Amino acid sequence: MKPEHIGIAVKELKISIPLFEQLLNTPCYKTENVASEGVKTAFFQTGDSKIELLEADNDNSPIVKFINKKGEGIHHIAFEVENIEAEMKRLAALGFELLSEHPKKGADNKLVCFLHPKTTNGVLIELTQEIK
Ligand code: ZN
Repeated sequence: MKPEHIGIAVKELKISIPLFEQLLNTPCYKTENVASEGVKTAFFQTGDSKIELLEADNDNSPIVKFINKKGEGIHHIAFEVENIEAEMKRLAALGFELLSEHPKKGADNKLVCFLHPKTTNGVLIELTQEIK
């Protein structure tokens, strides 16, 4: 597994995109709505990995709950895998709790699956596999 991106929950992309463009000294290369997850995303390339900013796109979004509980900040860490179905099977067999039974279509042309933070020391983990 290699780190693919770090997801950061923010209140407003319109404030955070220019902030991260200044911080990282690189332009946001893509914004994308993922309606199924209730998020609007913005991506920045940083070396071999990326930063993903996440804003809620409705009041029931998991990002609203996260920010209400913890404030803005690191939301998840994503790892790229070769075969997401095989990794999901491997991790489920080891007792990790997967948040979906099958991979879902995520942002940035990826299949994704999240692992519940209660089985990963409090860190929400995302597995990603490039859709080819
Ligand atoms: Zn992500």
